[in-house]
Amino acid sequence: MEGAGKLIDDAELREQIKGSGIGTSATRAEIITKLEHDKYISLNKKTQLITPTSIGEALFDIVSETVPQMLSPKMTASWEKGLSQVERGEISASRYRTIMEDFVRKSVDRIKTSSTVSMPGKVEIAPIGKCPRCGRDVIEGRKGFGCVGYRDKEKPCSFTIWKSNALLATGHKSISAAMARKLLKGESITVSGLRSKAGKPYAAAFTLKDDGQNASLEMSFDQVKPRRSYRKSKTSK
Ligand SMILES: [Zn+2]
Repeated sequence: MEGAGKLIDDAELREQIKGSGIGTSATRAEIITKLEHDKYISLNKKTQLITPTSIGEALFDIVSETVPQMLSPKMTASWEKGLSQVERGEISASRYRTIMEDFVRKSVDRIKTSSTVSMPGKVEIAPIGKCPRCGRDVIEGRKGFGCVGYRDKEKPCSFTIWKSNALLATGHKSISAAMARKLLKGESITVSGLRSKAGKPYAAAFTLKDDGQNASLEMSFDQVKPRRSYRKSKTSK
Protein backbone atom coordinates (compact mmCIF):
# COMPACT_ATOMS: atom_id res chain seq x y z
CA MET A 1 0.00 0.00 0.00
CA GLU A 2 2.90 2.34 0.71
CA GLY A 3 4.10 1.86 -2.86
CA ALA A 4 0.70 2.58 -4.41
CA GLY A 5 2.02 5.86 -5.83
CA LYS A 6 4.04 3.92 -8.41
CA LEU A 7 0.75 2.95 -10.06
CA ILE A 8 -0.13 6.57 -10.84
CA ASP A 9 0.85 8.01 -14.24
CA ASP A 10 0.15 11.65 -13.41
CA ALA A 11 3.39 13.08 -12.01
CA GLU A 12 1.70 15.75 -9.91
CA LEU A 13 -0.68 13.28 -8.30
CA ARG A 14 2.08 10.76 -7.82
CA GLU A 15 4.02 13.38 -5.91
CA GLN A 16 0.98 13.91 -3.70
CA ILE A 17 1.08 10.51 -2.05
CA LYS A 18 4.81 10.03 -2.23
CA GLY A 19 6.01 8.85 1.10
CA SER A 20 2.54 8.15 2.43
CA GLY A 21 0.95 5.83 -0.15
CA ILE A 22 -2.68 5.02 0.53
CA GLY A 23 -2.13 3.94 4.09
CA THR A 24 0.85 3.01 6.15
CA SER A 25 2.01 -0.23 7.69
CA ALA A 26 0.62 1.17 10.93
CA THR A 27 -2.94 1.18 9.61
CA ARG A 28 -2.70 -2.08 7.66
CA ALA A 29 -3.52 -4.44 10.56
CA GLU A 30 -6.56 -2.37 11.44
CA ILE A 31 -7.81 -2.40 7.84
CA ILE A 32 -7.42 -6.19 7.58
CA THR A 33 -9.21 -6.68 10.91
CA LYS A 34 -12.08 -4.49 9.74
CA LEU A 35 -12.39 -6.27 6.39
CA GLU A 36 -12.47 -9.61 8.17
CA HIS A 37 -14.98 -8.38 10.74
CA ASP A 38 -17.27 -7.13 7.96
CA LYS A 39 -16.87 -10.52 6.20
CA TYR A 40 -15.31 -9.14 3.00
CA ILE A 41 -12.25 -11.35 3.43
CA SER A 42 -11.51 -14.50 5.36
CA LEU A 43 -8.27 -15.19 7.08
CA ASN A 44 -6.96 -18.73 7.42
CA LYS A 45 -5.35 -18.65 10.86
CA LYS A 46 -3.10 -21.63 10.10
CA THR A 47 -1.72 -20.59 6.74
CA GLN A 48 -2.24 -16.83 7.24
CA LEU A 49 -3.73 -16.76 3.75
CA ILE A 50 -6.28 -14.06 3.06
CA THR A 51 -9.01 -14.78 0.52
CA PRO A 52 -11.97 -12.62 -0.51
CA THR A 53 -15.41 -13.93 0.47
CA SER A 54 -18.23 -14.07 -2.07
CA ILE A 55 -19.60 -10.84 -0.57
CA GLY A 56 -16.16 -9.25 -0.90
CA GLU A 57 -15.96 -10.28 -4.53
CA ALA A 58 -19.48 -9.04 -5.16
CA LEU A 59 -18.60 -5.68 -3.62
CA PHE A 60 -15.50 -5.44 -5.81
CA ASP A 61 -17.56 -6.27 -8.91
CA ILE A 62 -20.21 -3.69 -8.09
CA VAL A 63 -17.69 -0.94 -7.31
CA SER A 64 -15.55 -1.69 -10.35
CA GLU A 65 -18.58 -1.34 -12.61
CA THR A 66 -20.11 1.70 -10.99
CA VAL A 67 -17.36 3.79 -9.36
CA PRO A 68 -14.11 2.32 -10.74
CA GLN A 69 -12.06 5.33 -9.65
CA MET A 70 -12.64 4.19 -6.07
CA LEU A 71 -10.31 1.26 -6.76
CA SER A 72 -7.48 3.48 -7.94
CA PRO A 73 -4.79 5.08 -5.74
CA LYS A 74 -5.23 8.12 -8.01
CA MET A 75 -8.37 9.00 -6.11
CA THR A 76 -6.62 9.01 -2.74
CA ALA A 77 -3.90 11.13 -4.31
CA SER A 78 -6.42 13.67 -5.62
CA TRP A 79 -8.05 13.86 -2.19
CA GLU A 80 -4.62 14.46 -0.67
CA LYS A 81 -4.06 17.15 -3.27
CA GLY A 82 -7.33 18.80 -2.25
CA LEU A 83 -6.30 18.72 1.40
CA SER A 84 -2.98 20.37 0.53
CA GLN A 85 -4.87 23.08 -1.35
CA VAL A 86 -7.01 23.69 1.73
CA GLU A 87 -3.86 23.83 3.82
CA ARG A 88 -2.36 26.46 1.51
CA GLY A 89 -5.58 28.43 1.48
CA GLU A 90 -6.14 27.87 -2.25
CA ILE A 91 -9.63 26.48 -1.70
CA SER A 92 -11.88 26.74 1.32
CA ALA A 93 -12.53 23.78 3.60
CA SER A 94 -16.26 24.03 2.90
CA ARG A 95 -15.66 23.92 -0.87
CA TYR A 96 -13.56 20.78 -0.40
CA ARG A 97 -16.26 19.28 1.75
CA THR A 98 -18.93 20.01 -0.87
CA ILE A 99 -16.86 18.28 -3.55
CA MET A 100 -16.42 15.22 -1.32
CA GLU A 101 -20.12 15.09 -0.44
CA ASP A 102 -21.11 15.39 -4.10
CA PHE A 103 -18.82 12.53 -4.98
CA VAL A 104 -20.23 10.30 -2.25
CA ARG A 105 -23.83 11.14 -3.16
CA LYS A 106 -23.29 10.48 -6.88
CA SER A 107 -21.40 7.23 -6.19
CA VAL A 108 -24.11 5.89 -3.89
CA ASP A 109 -26.78 6.73 -6.48
CA ARG A 110 -24.83 4.97 -9.20
CA ILE A 111 -24.40 1.85 -7.06
CA LYS A 112 -28.06 1.88 -6.06
CA THR A 113 -29.29 2.01 -9.65
CA SER A 114 -26.70 -0.47 -10.92
CA SER A 115 -27.92 -3.69 -12.45
CA THR A 116 -24.76 -5.56 -11.51
CA VAL A 117 -26.45 -7.18 -8.53
CA SER A 118 -28.97 -8.90 -10.75
CA MET A 119 -26.47 -10.13 -13.34
CA PRO A 120 -26.86 -13.88 -13.24
CA GLY A 121 -23.70 -15.72 -12.37
CA LYS A 122 -21.86 -12.47 -11.81
CA VAL A 123 -22.63 -11.92 -8.17
CA GLU A 124 -23.14 -14.73 -5.78
CA ILE A 125 -24.29 -13.81 -2.34
CA ALA A 126 -24.47 -17.37 -1.05
CA PRO A 127 -27.45 -18.65 -3.07
CA ILE A 128 -30.13 -20.45 -1.07
CA GLY A 129 -31.34 -22.50 -4.01
CA LYS A 130 -32.72 -22.32 -7.52
CA CYS A 131 -35.73 -20.30 -8.55
CA PRO A 132 -38.58 -22.65 -9.54
CA ARG A 133 -39.76 -20.13 -12.15
CA CYS A 134 -36.59 -19.30 -14.05
CA GLY A 135 -33.81 -21.45 -12.61
CA ARG A 136 -31.66 -18.54 -11.48
CA ASP A 137 -30.30 -18.26 -7.95
CA VAL A 138 -32.45 -17.38 -4.98
CA ILE A 139 -30.70 -15.23 -2.42
CA GLU A 140 -31.61 -13.98 1.03
CA GLY A 141 -32.90 -10.44 1.34
CA ARG A 142 -34.13 -8.46 4.30
CA LYS A 143 -37.76 -9.56 4.11
CA GLY A 144 -37.58 -12.70 2.08
CA PHE A 145 -35.70 -15.06 -0.19
CA GLY A 146 -35.93 -13.79 -3.72
CA CYS A 147 -34.83 -14.61 -7.24
CA VAL A 148 -31.77 -12.65 -8.40
CA GLY A 149 -33.75 -11.88 -11.54
CA TYR A 150 -36.01 -9.40 -9.79
CA ARG A 151 -34.12 -6.41 -11.18
CA ASP A 152 -33.36 -7.92 -14.57
CA LYS A 153 -34.85 -5.51 -17.10
CA GLU A 154 -35.11 -8.06 -19.91
CA LYS A 155 -36.31 -11.13 -18.07
CA PRO A 156 -37.57 -9.98 -14.71
CA CYS A 157 -38.61 -12.56 -12.14
CA SER A 158 -40.38 -11.64 -8.94
CA PHE A 159 -40.27 -15.02 -7.23
CA THR A 160 -40.03 -14.53 -3.45
CA ILE A 161 -40.56 -16.62 -0.37
CA TRP A 162 -41.50 -14.10 2.30
CA LYS A 163 -39.91 -14.63 5.68
CA SER A 164 -43.11 -13.92 7.53
CA ASN A 165 -46.85 -14.14 7.02
CA ALA A 166 -49.95 -13.85 9.18
CA LEU A 167 -49.94 -17.54 10.07
CA LEU A 168 -46.28 -17.67 11.10
CA ALA A 169 -46.70 -14.46 13.04
CA THR A 170 -49.13 -16.19 15.41
CA GLY A 171 -46.16 -18.08 16.83
CA HIS A 172 -43.64 -15.29 16.24
CA LYS A 173 -41.98 -17.57 13.69
CA SER A 174 -40.31 -16.76 10.41
CA ILE A 175 -38.76 -18.70 7.54
CA SER A 176 -35.03 -19.23 8.07
CA ALA A 177 -32.45 -19.72 5.33
CA ALA A 178 -32.31 -23.44 6.16
CA MET A 179 -36.08 -23.70 5.80
CA ALA A 180 -36.06 -21.79 2.51
CA ARG A 181 -33.36 -24.13 1.22
CA LYS A 182 -35.61 -27.14 1.96
CA LEU A 183 -38.68 -25.53 0.46
CA LEU A 184 -36.80 -24.80 -2.77
CA LYS A 185 -35.77 -28.45 -2.96
CA GLY A 186 -39.45 -29.37 -2.79
CA GLU A 187 -39.17 -30.69 0.74
CA SER A 188 -41.61 -29.89 3.51
CA ILE A 189 -40.70 -28.00 6.65
CA THR A 190 -42.30 -28.23 10.07
CA VAL A 191 -42.99 -25.15 12.13
CA SER A 192 -44.04 -25.66 15.72
CA GLY A 193 -45.35 -23.19 18.26
CA LEU A 194 -48.00 -21.66 16.01
CA ARG A 195 -51.18 -20.54 17.73
CA SER A 196 -54.75 -21.22 16.74
CA LYS A 197 -57.41 -18.52 17.10
CA ALA A 198 -58.28 -20.05 20.47
CA GLY A 199 -54.63 -19.73 21.51
CA LYS A 200 -53.84 -23.43 21.25
CA PRO A 201 -50.28 -24.23 20.13
CA TYR A 202 -49.84 -26.48 17.12
CA ALA A 203 -47.25 -27.56 14.62
CA ALA A 204 -47.77 -27.54 10.90
CA ALA A 205 -45.93 -28.79 7.89
CA PHE A 206 -45.54 -26.53 4.89
CA THR A 207 -44.54 -27.07 1.31
CA LEU A 208 -43.89 -24.45 -1.31
CA LYS A 209 -46.63 -23.76 -3.79
CA ASP A 210 -45.94 -21.44 -6.67
CA ASP A 211 -48.56 -20.56 -9.26
CA GLY A 212 -46.16 -18.49 -11.32
CA GLN A 213 -47.50 -15.25 -9.84
CA ASN A 214 -47.33 -15.88 -6.13
CA ALA A 215 -45.30 -18.28 -4.07
CA SER A 216 -47.08 -19.37 -0.95
CA LEU A 217 -46.67 -21.88 1.82
CA GLU A 218 -49.19 -24.68 1.65
CA MET A 219 -50.05 -26.14 4.98
CA SER A 220 -50.82 -29.75 5.64
CA PHE A 221 -51.51 -30.94 9.16
CA ASP A 222 -51.38 -34.61 8.29
CA GLN A 223 -47.68 -34.45 7.47
CA VAL A 224 -46.91 -33.73 11.09
CA LYS A 225 -46.61 -36.86 13.13
CA PRO A 226 -48.27 -36.41 16.50
CA ARG A 227 -45.44 -37.23 18.89
CA ARG A 228 -47.38 -39.41 21.33
CA SER A 229 -48.99 -41.81 18.94
CA TYR A 230 -45.70 -42.08 17.09
CA ARG A 231 -43.97 -43.29 20.24
CA LYS A 232 -46.81 -45.63 21.10
CA SER A 233 -46.71 -47.35 17.78
CA LYS A 234 -42.98 -47.84 18.17
CA THR A 235 -43.13 -49.37 21.65
CA SER A 236 -46.11 -51.57 20.83
CA LYS A 237 -44.05 -53.50 18.30
ZN1 LIG B 1 -36.66 -16.48 -10.98
